[in-house]
Amino acid sequence: MNIVLLGAPGAGKGTQAKLIEEKYGLTHIATGDIFRANIKGGTPIGKLAKSYIDAGKLVPDEVTCELVKDRLVNGEEGAGFMLDGFPRNLYQAEELDKFARIDLCINIDVDKSLLMDRICGRRMCSCGASYHVSTLNGATTCAKCGKPLFQREDDNPQTVGARLDTYASQTAPLEDYYKARGKLVTVDGGSGTPEEVFAVISSVIDKYLK
Ligand code: AMP
Repeated sequence: MNIVLLGAPGAGKGTQAKLIEEKYGLTHIATGDIFRANIKGGTPIGKLAKSYIDAGKLVPDEVTCELVKDRLVNGEEGAGFMLDGFPRNLYQAEELDKFARIDLCINIDVDKSLLMDRICGRRMCSCGASYHVSTLNGATTCAKCGKPLFQREDDNPQTVGARLDTYASQTAPLEDYYKARGKLVTVDGGSGTPEEVFAVISSVIDKYLK
């Protein structure tokens, strides 16, 4: 099965994607991760993407759609895939429907007032784990693998403000897009622990697979 994970920055898409990948074997494809790897590698795509990412804006559609299309056409997705951070506007959603079949859109809903603190307090590990600074008790390494934690460059208040605005104006309308196609399931991502949110998501996926 193929899933789109929808949700504002800080809603927990990456955390849930990791748990879904472990349990269901779906391949996790995160456009933000692909862009960051390109920036790190100094590729032409990375150079182009950096200015947009730093400004909290979307990287141009042609570049992003081509990247995802290539990945899906050339990748081996046994059990299926899960898109995290794509599509992010109506154009991308329409393009995606031309080159892939989407079965389900899981929308992780979190109150906007929680997001700024969640993102600005976020500390990441290259293994994919993420933490909130308030729970680290001063630790600077990952509890899962021991590698040093870091803060994403775009997890600063100014860029986060722009990312949230971009989400509201361009990405949130995708809820209606998938709802109109009978594919949207909205899950509360704001009141439970990641494990509790995952239990709800699991039940949604299990119901679909039956
Ligand atoms: P994320 O890791 O999903 O929060 O993405 C980080 C940044 O990468 C976003 O703020 C955008 O600048 C860029 N980005 C990620 N996915 C897309 C996309 N589907 N379309 C355009 N830009 C994207």
